[in-house]
Amino acid sequence: MRYFLITILIIFYSCKLDNEFVPIDEGRVKDILDKMTIEEKIGQMAQINLTVIAKGPSKWRSFYPLEIDPKRAKKAIVDYKVGSIINTINGKALETRNWHQSISEIQKYSVDSTRSRIPIIYGIDGIHGSNYAVGATMFPHQINLAASWNKENAYNMANVCAYETRAIGIPWNFSPILDLGIDPRFPRQFETFGEDPLLVQRLSKAMLRGFQGNENEISNYKVAACLKHFVGYQSVISGKDRTPAYIPDHVLSEYHIEPFREAIKDGAKSVMISSGLINGIPVHANYDLIIKILRQKLGFEGVILSDWEDINKLHTRDKVAESKKEAVKIAINSGIDMSMIPYDYEQYCRFLLELVNEGEVSIERINDAVSRILKLKLDLGLFENPITDFSKYEAFGSKKHKELAYNAASESITLLKNKNRILPIKGNPSILVTGPNANSMRTLNGAWTYSWQGNLADEFAGEYNTIYEAISNKFGSRNVKFIPGVAYTESGNYFDMNEVNIRKAVDEGKKSDIIILCLGENSYTEKPGDLNDLNIHKLQSKLAFELIKTRKPIILIINSGRPRLITDFEPFMSAVINVYLPGNHGGDALADILSGKVNPSGKLPYTYPAFPNSLLPYYYKPSEVQNNNQGAYNYVGKVNNLYDFGYGLSYSEFEYTNLNTDKDVYNSKSDTIKINFKIKNTSKIDGYETVQLYSSDLYAQITPDIKRLRDFRKIFLRSGESKSIDFSLPVEKLGYFNVKNKKITEKGEFKLMIDTLNKLITIN
Ligand code: BGC
Repeated sequence: MRYFLITILIIFYSCKLDNEFVPIDEGRVKDILDKMTIEEKIGQMAQINLTVIAKGPSKWRSFYPLEIDPKRAKKAIVDYKVGSIINTINGKALETRNWHQSISEIQKYSVDSTRSRIPIIYGIDGIHGSNYAVGATMFPHQINLAASWNKENAYNMANVCAYETRAIGIPWNFSPILDLGIDPRFPRQFETFGEDPLLVQRLSKAMLRGFQGNENEISNYKVAACLKHFVGYQSVISGKDRTPAYIPDHVLSEYHIEPFREAIKDGAKSVMISSGLINGIPVHANYDLIIKILRQKLGFEGVILSDWEDINKLHTRDKVAESKKEAVKIAINSGIDMSMIPYDYEQYCRFLLELVNEGEVSIERINDAVSRILKLKLDLGLFENPITDFSKYEAFGSKKHKELAYNAASESITLLKNKNRILPIKGNPSILVTGPNANSMRTLNGAWTYSWQGNLADEFAGEYNTIYEAISNKFGSRNVKFIPGVAYTESGNYFDMNEVNIRKAVDEGKKSDIIILCLGENSYTEKPGDLNDLNIHKLQSKLAFELIKTRKPIILIINSGRPRLITDFEPFMSAVINVYLPGNHGGDALADILSGKVNPSGKLPYTYPAFPNSLLPYYYKPSEVQNNNQGAYNYVGKVNNLYDFGYGLSYSEFEYTNLNTDKDVYNSKSDTIKINFKIKNTSKIDGYETVQLYSSDLYAQITPDIKRLRDFRKIFLRSGESKSIDFSLPVEKLGYFNVKNKKITEKGEFKLMIDTLNKLITIN
């Protein structure tokens, strides 16, 4: 009996190991893998920064334009067999010619000079266009695509970005971002689709299709996408980049993992792991999240990539590994296939080889990782075409691409206030354009634009119009004056400001009919964008309050990567427009909205908070709203936002009526609720409206969210036109993950809500 049990245990254990790390066993992958030495395999698992093989003073800084350093390139690619290179040099955009020549040169090292002849896979961050290529089309950021509530814009951005990224010879893009943009303090909220899981899921699905196409094998006009950052990256306690998050499993499942699940089902080729920590464990060291959930539960078969230097950081920052070598062991055994090292590759390759020889990392794990990397290279056709035929990309930076970017910008811009219908601007008024964001391509584009931090946009995007230039073109240069009032400082902290000429701006304001005040933030991302105070900079509020004294109507334009607090002066604004980070065409799109050429149709993809201690997404719990104790105490017991998620005005007006469902009681979980309502454009202006379906579960095992978005659609209604709209909502979509992390649909009453209408239904 004892032997029997031991045998069973051995079988069980070996089965577990077998299931744990299984290399892809497909013909070509296997053929290549079988012929590789261990050093070649380890090299494939290494990814380095371009500066490491570029000519220049150090591996951090290179000469510009880029020149490949033959000695450094040979050492990395031929001697160490490094399989992947990323990024640009000095964080700066390169001319397409420079890209073509350099990538071709890099591929020659790998294909002509190595024994295995495996091509390099080059990766880059094309976040809102091929942002490191001079002349590429710059779309708005993901937060704008979400504000447009139109998945076509997400598709178009990714489709154009894929084309223009492939055009410079790069087949792998570290986008889309599926992080939930749940925290307005976080310095990368603008890179997300906002705070709602359904919006994130729908738009990332469209973006994925735009990047990869529908086929398993990726065409020469498409790129492999990289879903990031798995998982819970932006849901941190401090609001700062790469800091701890505490997220229970069922919360992870309910809000954070769902968008990844869908994109994985749709065939995403790679996933990047979050640089953060969840419940005290760095995600790069979290076997349960990477192997058990990402690989096994979600069934992800592609490449799992580390984020920047994050394996080392298990030792240097997060202190879960006593040495850098132990860090490599932990991360690789937790399921990382490729390390974005990105500098000390000699050390990484040496450690990993030692770990394999010492039996600390199994050869099965190595084969598993390398097979997925080879499969990605094969799916991209890199073995056949390691070098792009650059003559086949005439549409790079074309007018057609620019029009799509303009459309995405104009559909995203969100009108938040329009007192006495001051907008669109009527007649031929004199206009003062003021504020630090009025005349800057940098602030329109945000980070990841011609440079990592976006600080070079004015150097590279001179041909496009700033807000001031676009307004001046639209309303006539004789009518439009620009006086900045305050400005961002050239050096130092991105958020530092200088007073330039507030007095002068006020004097000019007095002489003008309308003031257009452009406030917000300078560009930033990641750690440099961390913030201690969500309030808008005090010099910006000073400018606002000084201008208010002129008693002239003020149109406030908000241009920022996250909702900075403007609560003190917002009541004195006649109109408020949020442009977020609309890209190179944002100035023109805004001017068209101000003039009435375009009717605004954006809606907030996040909650715009009113106060620094009240930062909640719209799906908060009922206890966030507690009434004063019969008037006995005067406490602040309820959520108080400046503008709610999903809010945005139009120049049209819409009336919603007749919300109905096909039944009142639904008996089965496999039922579908058929919802119908009428909507009418009661105004004289044609316009788009995004109709949004919410539900609330009235009672549940876990205190239910106040409400959740269940469906949405953007529709066009001519003046006076009515439409009957149907939604089909499967009953199971009303379910949720309980504390045991199990998805359940409970019986009971649910409220369905559209605009101000609602309808109760029962699930039996
Ligand atoms: C960021 C990633 C990015 C990577 C490569 C990291 O610092 O977190 O989003 O893809 O750098 O540039």
